Amino acid sequence: MALSPAQVPEPDAAMTDDTALHILRQRPTTTARPIAADFLCRGEAEPRSLYIHVPFCFHKCHYCDFYSFVDTRDRQGVFIDRLVRELRAVAPLTRGLPLRTLFVGGGTPTLLAPKLWRTLLRCLRDTFDLQEILRGHGEFTVECNPETASEELFGVLSEGGVSRISVGAQSFNPTHLKTLERWHDPDTVPRALELARSAGIERRSVDLIYAIPGQTTEDVRSDLATALALPIDHLSAYNLTYEPNTAMTRRLQRGEFHPIEEESELEMFWLVRSECEKRGLGAYEISNFARPGSECRHNLAYWRQDPWLAAGPSASAHVGGHRYKVIPRLDDYLNHDDQGFALVTDHDPPEPRRTLAEIIMTGIRLAEGIDMNRVLGEASAIGAAGALQAEIERADESGWLVERAGRLALTDSGLPLADHVASCLMSALG
Ligand code: SF4
Repeated sequence: MALSPAQVPEPDAAMTDDTALHILRQRPTTTARPIAADFLCRGEAEPRSLYIHVPFCFHKCHYCDFYSFVDTRDRQGVFIDRLVRELRAVAPLTRGLPLRTLFVGGGTPTLLAPKLWRTLLRCLRDTFDLQEILRGHGEFTVECNPETASEELFGVLSEGGVSRISVGAQSFNPTHLKTLERWHDPDTVPRALELARSAGIERRSVDLIYAIPGQTTEDVRSDLATALALPIDHLSAYNLTYEPNTAMTRRLQRGEFHPIEEESELEMFWLVRSECEKRGLGAYEISNFARPGSECRHNLAYWRQDPWLAAGPSASAHVGGHRYKVIPRLDDYLNHDDQGFALVTDHDPPEPRRTLAEIIMTGIRLAEGIDMNRVLGEASAIGAAGALQAEIERADESGWLVERAGRLALTDSGLPLADHVASCLMSALG
C-alpha cells in the first residue's frame, strides 16, 4: 500500500476533494496538460505495465495520504466512462506489445459496482493486448477492502482476468484498527480471501501495518500469526508513517498519543522478517514478503524503474524517462478530455541524475540489490563514478552494503538504514 505510485502527498486526502484542489493550486510545478500525447508523437514509450487509480473509499482512514475520498455525488459511473476514454487514448503507448502487469489500486477499487467493473474489464480486453496476463504469464492485481468483497464481484473480476487480490487487513486487533480509524471487521479478511479463492483468483496478498500507537511487539506477533495462517502467498508489512496533512499526523501533533519508540519499532521490523521467513515468505523487498515466484511483479517494475503507464486521477506514470501524474482531482479529471488524454501535473522530464537517484533509492530496498555496472555506467555519464564508488566503499566499510555477483545489496545491519544508505550514495551524484 505505501508504495503505490498514486501516493499524493500534497492534497489533504483526509479532507474533501475541494480541499485537495486548494492545496493543489498552491503547487508551483503543476503543468496541467495532456503530456502523454507528446510521447505518442515522439514514439518514446514501450511500457508493459499499467496502473489504474480508483479514488473512491467509503471512509477515510486517518493515516492515509493516497488520493481517495468519500464521494457524496455518486460519480462512479461518469468516472468509469472517463477512465475508459483515457485508457483508449494511452493504449497506443504500448505499441501493441502485450501488457505484463496490470494493477488497479486506490482508493477502494472493489467499491465499484460489478456492472462498472464489467465495463472496465471489457475496455481493458478490447483496448490492450492482455494475452500474457490471460495465459497466466503476467499478473493482474486488484486492491480490495475486505468489507467490499462479494461472490458476485470476485466472479466478475476472475472472469475478467484478475489473477491476484491484495487485501488491506492492516491489523486483526480491533483496538489498533480503531486507532488507525480503519473501518472494517477483522473477520472480513479471511472471508474475502476465501471468496477470492473460490472465484479462482489464485494469488492473494495481505497488507499489515505495524508500529501503531499502543501496539506491542506481542500484538504484532499475533497479527503476523493470524495473517500467515491465511491462504496467501504474499504479505506486505509497512511501519506506520506520519505523512503530512493526514488526520493521524494532526492527532500526533495535538499530543493525542505517543508514537512507538524507535527501539520497539526496530524489534517489530525484525519480528516481521523472521516470522515471514519461518513461514516460507522470503523478503524480496524491505517491506514485502513472498513465496518463491509469488513476488508482486507489478511493484517489481516500479522498484526496478521499468516504464509504466497510468490512468485515473493522481496515478503516476514513468514513460520514456519522463515522470508525471494524472491530475489529482476528480472534477478536473472528469471535465478535461483532450481526445481522451487527461491533464497531468508534476512532470519531470528525463534527467540523468534523477534517473540514477531513483535507481539507487528503490533498487537498494530489493533483496536482489542494484546492478553495479548499471549504476557506475550511468554515474560515469554524469562524471560521478569516482564519487559514487567512494560512497559505496564507505558504506561497505560500515558494514551496510555487500557486493555479490555484480550486485550491491544491503546487509542485515544496513536494512533498517536503507533510506540513510540511499541518501549517502545519492549525495555522490552532486
Ligand atoms: S481504504 Fe485505503 S485508500 Fe481508502 S482511505 Fe483507507 S487506506 Fe486510504
